[in-house]
Amino acid sequence: MVLSSSTLEKYAKETGFDACGVALAGALPREKERLLEWLGEGKHGGMSYMANNIEKRGDPRLLVEGARSVIVTLTNYYPCRRQAEGTPVFARYAYGKDYHFVLKERLHRLFALLKEEANRSVNGRVFVDSAPVFEHEWARRAGLGWIGKNTLLIHRKWGSFCFIGVIISNLEFDTYSSSFESRFCGNCNRCVEACPTGALTAYSLDARRCISYNTIENKGNIPDVVRQRMGMRVFGCDICQEVCPWNRKGIFNEVSEFQPGKEIMEWTKEQWLQLDEKTFETRFKDSPLARAGLNKLRDNLVDTSFYD
Ligand code: SF4
Ligand code: SF4
Repeated sequence: MVLSSSTLEKYAKETGFDACGVALAGALPREKERLLEWLGEGKHGGMSYMANNIEKRGDPRLLVEGARSVIVTLTNYYPCRRQAEGTPVFARYAYGKDYHFVLKERLHRLFALLKEEANRSVNGRVFVDSAPVFEHEWARRAGLGWIGKNTLLIHRKWGSFCFIGVIISNLEFDTYSSSFESRFCGNCNRCVEACPTGALTAYSLDARRCISYNTIENKGNIPDVVRQRMGMRVFGCDICQEVCPWNRKGIFNEVSEFQPGKEIMEWTKEQWLQLDEKTFETRFKDSPLARAGLNKLRDNLVDTSFYD
């Protein structure tokens, strides 16, 4: 049975997503080409996994057999609280529970509702930022926004502080979203100019110079150019989003799992440095911080000494 896009919209809202759209599944040769160029320039740093499964990334029908549609959801995570002055700085996406858990649970719920509605055997998978999927491009094709000069998806209402969730399946819809063809960056260049390490050129990121990559993913030493300019940022970096005029509205999220605890909001550098492995494990096992681990966090805290 072909589903109506209004049913998708209704269920997405009921499941708690802030925006949702659907695109026809198909090949993305231009994005594949750009990725190969980016990899060729070495801008992925140590993220060698980016070079894996390029064919699948370039065509979701190779990822999910018989795929007909790509459903994309957005979930606003802009927090209502600010960290205390002078404390180690964490990217906002890490304030609460790991978004992979929260979004996957919601996506599975949405997918279950759609499967029931379709009333036939449905083949599909849900993805949150951990599979070879061009999520930003699919969000654009699903009509949710444009890819800004900071390389992030920007939604006209929600800005860029949004998690992207994807369902690739053989579900079919009566209508598909119109892809978002405009880019509302215009002459603005604030993100590029504000990036403290020069990691950004318009629409392209050099991960090797990016504070976010270096404080989370980089398993080796952080290069001096980054250490000298990361300030108190110990896990991620939001600067190229903070300066974006499309984030000015800063609508607070109401997701209970994303609400921050006092550790992130108030702990001083000394408190973080005193943290032992067992306490870290207990307090942060469901947090995005667990991905980097305590040792990486400690190294980053020590690297902020440039700033002291
Ligand atoms: S996250 Fe920070 S370091 Fe990375 S590109 Fe944005 S502003 Fe630059
Ligand atoms: S800061 Fe300006 S250039 Fe950068 S993404 Fe936002 S609107 Fe686009």
